[in-house]
Amino acid sequence: MHRRAAGSLLICALLLGAACSKPGEGVIALEGATLIDGSGGPPVTDALILVRDGKIEAVARVNEIEIPRGAERLNLVGKTIIPGLIDAHGHVERWAGPRYLARGVTAVRDFADHMDSALAIRGDFNLGAVLGPRIFSSGGMIDGEPATYSGGDAVATPDEARHAVDARAVAGADLIKVYTKITPELLRPLLDEAKTLRLPVAAHLGKTDALTAARAGIVSIEHMSGVVQAAARSPATYVRAHDMFLVGWTAEEGGWALLDSATIARTARALAATRVAIVPTLALHETLSHLTDASLLSRPWMSDVPADHAGIRDVAGFLARAGWQLPDFIAFRRSRPRQDQFVREFKRAGGLIAAGSDAANQLLVPGAALHEEMALLVAAGLTPIDAITAATRHGAQLLRLDSLGMVAPGKVADLVVLNANPASNIAATRDIMLVMVRGRILRPDSLRAAWKQ
Ligand SMILES: [Zn+2]
Repeated sequence: MHRRAAGSLLICALLLGAACSKPGEGVIALEGATLIDGSGGPPVTDALILVRDGKIEAVARVNEIEIPRGAERLNLVGKTIIPGLIDAHGHVERWAGPRYLARGVTAVRDFADHMDSALAIRGDFNLGAVLGPRIFSSGGMIDGEPATYSGGDAVATPDEARHAVDARAVAGADLIKVYTKITPELLRPLLDEAKTLRLPVAAHLGKTDALTAARAGIVSIEHMSGVVQAAARSPATYVRAHDMFLVGWTAEEGGWALLDSATIARTARALAATRVAIVPTLALHETLSHLTDASLLSRPWMSDVPADHAGIRDVAGFLARAGWQLPDFIAFRRSRPRQDQFVREFKRAGGLIAAGSDAANQLLVPGAALHEEMALLVAAGLTPIDAITAATRHGAQLLRLDSLGMVAPGKVADLVVLNANPASNIAATRDIMLVMVRGRILRPDSLRAAWKQ
């Protein structure tokens, strides 16, 4: 560091009056904060982080390295820095871009419903035309027949399954998402094709149980789907229920409550041994189990949602479609401790858990919902540091991106500066002073002022 600075000064002197930039020009020095770097290790106090050209150039303790002259220096004593958050399960819409950033979410693993709009949004965010997080998108899902949603492809034969993967590779998808009606007979050729094209496959399972899918080679299980089928004594009822999406969801969500804890522990260990990752989306399970609670609509972060965006607030419409009655909600609530136990056992067995929110589904607000997810992971038994790792480095691992998810030399400069330390209280992740994305500093208040105009 020091030698390089001296060298460029020498070159300046030789050029005699030519416009020489100072060695620290364009460098941002973040000084004095406590650093939680995403590795899962303990917090480091008095950290010094140098950022240049959108990348992290150096991470040290204050006074360990020299801050180059001309650097923009930020005194962050008393603050805590964490990596930019990665939402491992989102359905990204254009309006959500600045909302994600204001809440510290700098990358999203996107399961958008339509390929064209997903890729357009990805391009606009990633190239900076619209302010938003980095997007990695599956495009529309691959489903069995009939497709659950219009944006997905329904496949009925192994050839069609392969073709659907090819079509996504050609369009430029970053990953593949398979949906509830995919059977094991369709999943195997689909995974074979995805392996050839080096595309990771994420699964919201229904007709295939979690162990079968994990052993066949899917990378992640979304919503802990298929676990009940893998654990239940008679999975056939669940598999049949998945002829209809909401019927399947209802049966499976209530089915957790019917499992005993020894079965859950055994299934969690068997799944962890396959190296599949789990994206639990506890915020989704928790929200759905309390969907009739009107107070959820008045939680403060609901104000992040634009007035004209009815979808997130449309609880009544969703309830009418789902047809859920009081006994369904009672079953869902009885399932929640079982789901938490599964998360705990899976983690204990060495399984990889990534935090995903499922925003912008009902009452799940882009950005804010990932903080709910981290808090619920802690409530399920993870430490705050583990929950932060799940929302940073583990998300990057799912995306197979080594340069994301950590505050370390050579990584991209996506990070969040917090006013309090979440190591003792996970709620501190919501108290954001500033967000850095692609090396650029953003203030949540300014973002809010801009989207309110
Ligand atoms: Zn989803």
